[in-house]
Amino acid sequence: MNSPLTVEVKEIWSALNSIPDPEVPAINIVELGVVRDVAVDGKRVKVTMTPTYSGCPAMKTMEMAVQELMVEMGYEVEIVIVYKPAWTTEWMSEETKEKLKVYGIAPPPKLTFEHLHPFSSPKNVEIKCPFCESNNTKLTSQFGSTACKSLYFCEGCHQPFELFKCH
Ligand SMILES: [Zn+2]
Repeated sequence: MNSPLTVEVKEIWSALNSIPDPEVPAINIVELGVVRDVAVDGKRVKVTMTPTYSGCPAMKTMEMAVQELMVEMGYEVEIVIVYKPAWTTEWMSEETKEKLKVYGIAPPPKLTFEHLHPFSSPKNVEIKCPFCESNNTKLTSQFGSTACKSLYFCEGCHQPFELFKCH
């Protein structure tokens, strides 16, 4: 899955950096780690993507944005979605996690598959407040501003914050 970094491939990677994550516009889809590979063959480009969890509603938006951008750049595009290996927060850099924090969003903790199910709540997982780093937090709502986030409240600094549960 590591296609050679030709001039065209590099150009495409940097163009993909301009597509924001629909859930958190502060970071882009490359930083998010969903773009796994870019391969170019003449005027054809194959972009391999891995959703942050299967069924993430934002994935379609991201696919469409990639599609549009590639067409704009004059390519015929094929998007391949791979589920294995599964997306992990390890694919986000520390810098990206820092950006999320600044945005008032707790970076996703290491969760099991069960935890990642959109209708289950992260149990026995310590969620740290992005503002004061207190572990004294509680879940207030399963769904935040989008289906991919949960609302939490920090008892330490008395501020609500969002947890990025599927990203
Ligand atoms: Zn706090």
